[in-house]
Amino acid sequence: MTGTGETELRDGEISVDALKSFDAELRFIGVIRTPFITRDQCPRQGKLDGPDCRLELRPEWEPALKGITKYEYLDVLYWLHESRRDLVLQSPKGDGKTTGTFALRSPVRPNPIGLSCVRLIRQEGATLIVKGLDCLDKTPLIDIKPERCGFTPQAPHKDADLG
Ligand code: SAM
Repeated sequence: MTGTGETELRDGEISVDALKSFDAELRFIGVIRTPFITRDQCPRQGKLDGPDCRLELRPEWEPALKGITKYEYLDVLYWLHESRRDLVLQSPKGDGKTTGTFALRSPVRPNPIGLSCVRLIRQEGATLIVKGLDCLDKTPLIDIKPERCGFTPQAPHKDADLG
């Protein structure tokens, strides 16, 4: 079956009745503005030469950007708010090959957190202009961190500070 609605399944897909009793509270720090209005317009993964996007932080978080402009690359975490969350096996539209959720970077996952490495173009007050995102316009923003490869070697040394 084609389609991505909450109740539809493609060939090979399995959904579960996900446990709802344990939870954690996220605090969105702002919203992401992108030119992508529909999922079909979003790239599968962002491109560092893609369009300018805006990380619009709530004003109270502007001081938390102090020091950010010394980094060219940032990790951005966001909440893929339009995703279903109940699939354990998925058959992605691209190749239809049935694969486990945790072996995919699909937006469909129990906690639909997206992660992209972006290039920082400039800061405008509480807003960062970046390239490299793949999410829908108005996707909630969870966190921003300097890109980790700037801090740790790719194969971490046993004494490396991973904080
Ligand atoms: N780069 C992130 C990662 O690897 O964690 C996300 C990758 S995911 C494959 C990107 C896709 O998620 C987009 O192509 C689009 O189809 C979908 N998507 C984007 N924004 C979304 C949102 N707010 N809610 C649900 N799906 C979204």
